[in-house]
Parts: sequence; C-alpha cells; structure tokens
Amino acid sequence: MSRVVVLGAGVSGLTSALTLLRLSRDDIQELTVLACEYPGDAHTGEYTSPWAGANWHSFAAHSDLDQIRRDKYTYTKFLQLAEDAHTAGIKKFPIKTFSAKNKGLPWYIEQKFVEDIVFLSDKELLERKLDPRKHVGYEFTTITLTPIVYNSYLLTNIKQSGGRCKKIKKLNAIEDVVDVMGYVPDLVINCTGLNGGKLLKNLEPSELQKNYPVKGQILQIYEDLPFQMIIDDLPAEDKPSQDQFLNVFPRQEGGCVVGGIFLKGDWSTEVDENLSANFLRAVKNHIPELKSTTVYNAYTAFRPGREGGVRIELSKYDLPEKKATLQVIHNYGIGGAGYQSSYGSALEVCSYARKVLSGSKELSSCKL
Ligand SMILES: Cc1cc2nc3c(=O)[nH]c(=O)nc-3n(C[C@H](O)[C@H](O)[C@H](O)COP(=O)(O)OP(=O)(O)OC[C@H]3O[C@@H](n4cnc5c(N)ncnc54)[C@H](O)[C@@H]3O)c2cc1C
Repeated sequence: MSRVVVLGAGVSGLTSALTLLRLSRDDIQELTVLACEYPGDAHTGEYTSPWAGANWHSFAAHSDLDQIRRDKYTYTKFLQLAEDAHTAGIKKFPIKTFSAKNKGLPWYIEQKFVEDIVFLSDKELLERKLDPRKHVGYEFTTITLTPIVYNSYLLTNIKQSGGRCKKIKKLNAIEDVVDVMGYVPDLVINCTGLNGGKLLKNLEPSELQKNYPVKGQILQIYEDLPFQMIIDDLPAEDKPSQDQFLNVFPRQEGGCVVGGIFLKGDWSTEVDENLSANFLRAVKNHIPELKSTTVYNAYTAFRPGREGGVRIELSKYDLPEKKATLQVIHNYGIGGAGYQSSYGSALEVCSYARKVLSGSKELSSCKL
C-alpha cells in the first residue's frame, strides 16, 4: 500500500487523482492532492483550468498517435458524462467547424470517429460569408463544459473516493513535497501546468526553460446559440493577425464564450480591446443567428505550452540528503488541449503508476 501525492488541482491533476483512485484503489493507502490554487481560486495567472473555453475539438496531428489515443478516450468519456453526470457541468452540442480546404480534414473526420458527422452545404458557407472554393464546413456532436462546475465535480468525486486535498503555499521545487508531507511519498504526480518544468530546476535543469505561455482572450456573452462554431481560417478582413481564429461555445447554463487567439510566449495579462472588437465583428459577419452580443466579462489566460508537447512519463530522482528516491510521474505542458485529452492522459498516468505501485520494472507498455 502506497502513499501518493498529486501536485496540482487543475484539470490534469484532478482527473489524474480521480482516475488513480478509481483504477488503483487497492494499491493506494493514501492519496493527497496538494496545490496552491483550487477550483474557485482566481488570484494568479498561472492557473489555467478555470479559464478554458472549454470544448472537445481535437487538434492532434494525424501522425501524433499518442495524442489521438488520449483525445479519443476523453471524447467517449465526456459524451458519457454529458448523459449520466448531471452535476458535472457538461452538455452535448453540435459543432460547426470551418477550415481551409487545402489543410485537409482532421483525423476524427477522416476516421469517422466522432458522432453525427455532416458536411455543410455551399449554401450555408455562402450565407456565412465563407468561400466554398476555399473553405470546407462540417458538423459533429461534441461537448462544452463549464470549468468551475466541472472541476468542482472532480474534486467532490476525489473526496468521495477517499482522496484528501490540501492547499499549500507555492512550492519552489518539487522535492519540497517531502517537507510539506513530512515523509517521502511513494509516488508524486506532477500536474503543475506552466510550472511543471520550473519545479524541476534542481533535479532536471534541462526542463527549466521548456514551458511557455500561449495567451488566450475570452469574452463572455449572455446570448445563447444552439451550436458551437469554430472558424479556423477566417477571411483576411476578419483576421488582422495570423494567430486569430473564431470560437463560439455555448455553455450548459446559458450564454456563450467567444474567443480566438493563440499568442505563443506572450505573458501580458491585459485584455486587448481591439482584439475583442475583432472577435465581435467576426461573430456578426459569420454567425447571423447571434443577432446581438452583450459582453459581461472579458479576460486573458495562458495555456501551459511546452517544447516537445505534453510530458507524460516516469522519472526517478535521487534525494541524497533524504537518502531516498523520489518517483515522479509527470503530466504537464498540455497547452490548449488539457480538457479534451484529460482522461486519456490520466489513463496513461495510471498505467505508469500501476507499474510503480506494484513494483514492476516493466514500463514499456505504459502508453495507452
Ligand atoms: C483561453 C483558453 C481556452 C481554452 N480552451 C480549451 C478547450 O476548449 N478545450 C481544452 O481541452 N482545453 C482548453 N484550454 C486549455 C486548458 O485550459 C489547459 O490545457 C488546462 O487547463 C491545463 O490544466 P493543468 O491542470 O495542466 O494546469 P493548471 O490548470 O494550470 O493547473 C496547475 C495546478 O498546479 C498548481 N501549481 C502550479 N505550480 C505550483 C507550485 N509551484 N506549487 C504548488 N502548486 C502549484 C496550481 O495551483 C494548479 O492547481 C484553454 C485554455 C485557455 C487559456
């Protein structure tokens, strides 16, 4: 029986903790989530999960089979939750997606993986002021979730499954968990988002510089829409910068979030009023169903980027002064896909954890 610490209470940490408790309960004596921010906290810009859109719309490349597996598993899980878990803040919606014809179709349309796929007519594209010679439109069933409701749901389920949660001051280094807990945990899961690499400054300095922010900006509006909409490739007049696109996601409680910017390496926190005006102009041009847009909130947030993509792997670090080894499974740096891959990533964490908790040295089959 082992003592496990999950560091981080964003969607990656909470989903990892809950999945561990559900799949490996017999091997776990005690599981503690430690984090300096929990659902409901909004005091630092380094906690991404409260601010996401958040929907499932995989952007895994055709060649990225690991990410496709994670996203596939999570899609199935989310559709199930939307049916069964009425307090989870998840609702099914159709999504209309428009992208450049020359970019080809995403894996989930090519593989006919998602439910209810329909290709949209040239008539609809023209009505939305999109050129059918340049754009392709398709619809499928997906979900939107409300982050604060969903993460609180995960937290409640962790506690109901026997997990403990403790709010702590921001750690300086990952090995500080030993002082916080008063013992060397058998396993630490590192789900610290943008800080995932910084916490390894003493044990693995090569990770220190790998994390970077990808700034997003969101407007919240009161109006409802019966479908989600994404235009990846906006016409030039609606796209002052290469990094701009249009996302409109209705939420289960009503209203929509409007977004569409992906600014790599930008740490600025200010809301760009010109950008907000661009978003609303694009909505007006391409979504005639939204006859008005009453903005009641605008904010920025940072997706936790990482050079090389998300890190999900096991590392062992010697702690000579404690005469111990710290076993850490990393799950950080997921960028803009933290929700849509959360269960798949957590399953991978569990696969590594099972090997550690059962003492096996065979780690080769830990990918999903
Ligand atoms: C505008 C925007 C829109 C998005 N839309 C979507 C979407 O539609 N779909 C989707 O799948 N994803 C979306 N995302 C991405 C998603 O929000 C992130 O991938 C996800 O929230 C990352 O979660 P995380 O748990 O890895 O990190 P975080 O949520 O940042 O959690 C990190 C946790 O670690 C803790 N922590 C960090 N450092 C320390 C430390 N030193 N000591 C103690 N605790 C620490 C924090 O307190 C926090 O609890 C969006 C993001 C943005 C910004």
